[in-house]
Amino acid sequence: MRPLGSSVGPMGIYSEHWEKYKSESVRWLLYLALLLVVGLPFSALVAIGVGRVTGSYPVYLHLVLLAIWLVVFTKTAIRASRVNCPRCKTVYSRGRGVSNCPQCGLGMLQDGA
Ligand SMILES: [Zn+2]
Repeated sequence: MRPLGSSVGPMGIYSEHWEKYKSESVRWLLYLALLLVVGLPFSALVAIGVGRVTGSYPVYLHLVLLAIWLVVFTKTAIRASRVNCPRCKTVYSRGRGVSNCPQCGLGMLQDGA
């Protein structure tokens, strides 16, 4: 059963794939935004909380937390920029100037016609 509103026209053999891609990339951008607005203040709060308990501000703990945050953020950003080519199944990273599949040249959000 196909949900309403996702009809695939004769020209759009990849439109379903790109629709899925678009909703997924929105979700990844949401994760990135959450990491920014929740993750960073959270690491500061943990450091401040530990500082309250131990009496001295845990600079190294805060640095470690920031390093972990940076790794998670970078990995999420890399994952968010990943594109699955629906034609040749190549996985590539979208970036500045990279909007076509490096393998077969299919443009992002482009249909196979
Ligand atoms: Zn391709």
